[in-house]
Amino acid sequence: MYDVVIVGGGLAGLINAIVLSRAGMQVLLVEKKTYPFHRVCGEYISNETLPFLHSLGIDPHQWGASSINYLQVSAPSGTMLQMPLDLGGFGISRYTLDEKLYQIALAAGATILTGKTVEDIIYQNEYFQIQLSDQTLYQSSYVIGAYGKRTRLDKQLNRDFIHTRSPYVGVKYHIRTDFPLNYIALHNFKDGYCGLSAIEDNKYNLCYLTTRENIRQHGSIEAMEEALMYKNPYLKALKANADFLFEKPEVINEISFAPKSSLENHILMSGDAAGLITPLCGNGMAMAIHSAHVLSGYLIQAQRENWKRKQLEQTYAQVWQHLFARRLQVGRTLQRLFGNEIITGIAIQTLRTCTPLARWLVKKTHGQPF
Ligand SMILES: Cc1cc2nc3c(=O)[nH]c(=O)nc-3n(C[C@H](O)[C@H](O)[C@H](O)COP(=O)(O)OP(=O)(O)OC[C@H]3O[C@@H](n4cnc5c(N)ncnc54)[C@H](O)[C@@H]3O)c2cc1C
Repeated sequence: MYDVVIVGGGLAGLINAIVLSRAGMQVLLVEKKTYPFHRVCGEYISNETLPFLHSLGIDPHQWGASSINYLQVSAPSGTMLQMPLDLGGFGISRYTLDEKLYQIALAAGATILTGKTVEDIIYQNEYFQIQLSDQTLYQSSYVIGAYGKRTRLDKQLNRDFIHTRSPYVGVKYHIRTDFPLNYIALHNFKDGYCGLSAIEDNKYNLCYLTTRENIRQHGSIEAMEEALMYKNPYLKALKANADFLFEKPEVINEISFAPKSSLENHILMSGDAAGLITPLCGNGMAMAIHSAHVLSGYLIQAQRENWKRKQLEQTYAQVWQHLFARRLQVGRTLQRLFGNEIITGIAIQTLRTCTPLARWLVKKTHGQPF
């Protein structure tokens, strides 16, 4: 019997586990993989997270994170927009970051089961029953769904977005190359865009989003990269001057940016499980950390002040909507501007001549420091 069971140990799950365990709650976190591991992500985190991370005693720069304060965006033709990033961010691999947070969550007293999958969650008479892949059962007063973009649990919960296939595929490499450590680049190609930014140990993250159809048409990831991605002159130059450090890329499918709900059958959703912002905005990790900060804060308050479940659920759902719904909407709109070679070229040319507009757009996809 636990106060809270957290399903999924990405950023949202681990931050919830750290805050709730430090507040004295009995926490069980279940993660289907085993730390440390790589996952598809651009690994650029907005500085809006730093005050909160520092308040937890976490300083990613101590773990080698790069500091990023300049943005480059290029069209498939090579037209380039460059601008300072007002707030900026830092770069660190999820391999390192998640492993460090896992260790901090363990030290805070959380029970963490790795290599196990949550198969079923049943809510009855104010309690949850949680069944794992090895058939063990746990009970808890609350469940946090922090299981990311898409899992079988979404099917069981009959969530709307799960009924529609998503066309998007994400691919990630770590490379060594020669590129300013304080820059993040976003290079566009037909039906895709590719981010490049420094992480720890003088390594760089090269991560792109494209469509399944793009890859299918060319027969393989490598063939698509050759035919389309490396047509962008900046990516072509990068390829000629980079060591690829993985034997094969990390790949994920079915990335959906469709609206979701932050509450499903009394499960409190956090991070991507509540809504995923397009990677174009580079802000999903900040939102995962922020949503975990907000949710764990209300859970602690609810326990201390004996809130009814309904009060907790309504408060969290309203605050989540207020903090994130607009950003997700702007992200979806921006996403439509990218991919089409002509529209992307026009959009970048326009933003080049109107830097205040470009700065305003970046601001709209980011939140305030918290
Ligand atoms: C191509 C791409 C590039 C991106 N680039 C950036 C970027 O540069 N900056 C940024 O801020 N954001 C970026 N994002 C978004 C960012 O990766 C996510 O928003 C962030 O990882 C969300 O964290 P999370 O904790 O919600 O989910 P995740 O980090 O996905 O963690 C979910 C965890 O749940 C586990 N899990 C799933 N199902 C179960 C189950 N049934 N039982 C147990 N465990 C389970 C999974 O193994 C996983 O570890 C990008 C996304 C994509 C697709």
